Amino acid sequence: MSHHKVIVIGTGPAGYTAALYASRANLAPLVFEGVQPGGQLTITTEVENYPGFKHGIAGPALMDEMREQVLRFGTEIKAETVLSANLGVQPFALSSDKGDYTCDALIIATGASARWLGLGRDEELSRSGGGVSACATCDGFFYRGKEIAVVGGGDTAVEEAVFLTKFASKVHLIHRRDRLRASKAMQDRALANEKIHPVWNQAVVEILTSVIETPLGDKIEKIRALKLQNTVDGSLSELPVTGLFVAIGHQPNTGLFAGQLPMDETGYLQVEKGSTRTPIAGVFACGDVQDHTYRQAITAAGSGCMAAIDAERWLVEAGLAE
Ligand code: NDP
Repeated sequence: MSHHKVIVIGTGPAGYTAALYASRANLAPLVFEGVQPGGQLTITTEVENYPGFKHGIAGPALMDEMREQVLRFGTEIKAETVLSANLGVQPFALSSDKGDYTCDALIIATGASARWLGLGRDEELSRSGGGVSACATCDGFFYRGKEIAVVGGGDTAVEEAVFLTKFASKVHLIHRRDRLRASKAMQDRALANEKIHPVWNQAVVEILTSVIETPLGDKIEKIRALKLQNTVDGSLSELPVTGLFVAIGHQPNTGLFAGQLPMDETGYLQVEKGSTRTPIAGVFACGDVQDHTYRQAITAAGSGCMAAIDAERWLVEAGLAE
């Protein structure tokens, strides 16, 4: 059992910023990377709205910079995933896939994960290489010269669609309404791209597949078309595509804290207004795990800073740090 003053769970902008401030306050934080080291920005392309990078920066490169910065100040990072947390004892007890830990203050920065359509097939086909993905940067390369679809109407969907035009011959951008939610600048860029074909007022109701044989003789199920339903008149149609990118938002990674910390109806952790304090003294939450409104890298980083400062003040008041 190893004890730490501060443990941070998560390595997105919130987790790294919390670790940066905590390490510079001599709290020697331990950080758990979790299942997606570097967080959601590692599966995005260009980040153009993070201050300090006037030409933009690739998401993975930005996260590498943050990682290097926290290592420089002595943060310890473990490539482990926390599997259980007991917040009913002090010090708090955590178990990862490799060991057991305790801490005086806990900073939760577990972020959010991509949502799936819930058709029972999309997540399954993404795992089996069946032509469904939630990450254009990771999988776009496989669709060179192919006709594919992106579902969603937010910034992620639009960004993915634009990125995918580097590879695909045509990208159908399927949205359930007749207006995108994405920012004006992103919309303009997408709608001016002749490879992007907006498909308005349509919901994907079924993923149609066929079984193909690979050169090695394996049989795999691959997407061949989407069944769409018009959200206005209910009519059905088929759209032949060889790939589907799902970009319909995210869900917070809060399963570890079910029954221990209050959450809103969609599972986001609730913190005291204007702070990162949860109702359990010594437990703080920052980043997307507690923010369904802004969800930006910069706001996540800002709340990570707040969490480290809140944790430091709490440790001092509790007589656990100088
Ligand atoms: P959003 O929640 O903004 O958008 C989700 C989209 O998916 C909406 O258009 C929504 O439709 C649609 N949707 C939700 N559920 C379903 C469903 N079951 N079936 C079909 N469509 C569905 O999520 P994003 O991931 O796009 O963005 C999250 C945040 O990250 C935002 O704040 C965004 O601005 C930011 N971001 C910024 C980027 C940048 O600046 N470079 C890049 C990417 C994201 P509807 O509109 O009808 O609700």
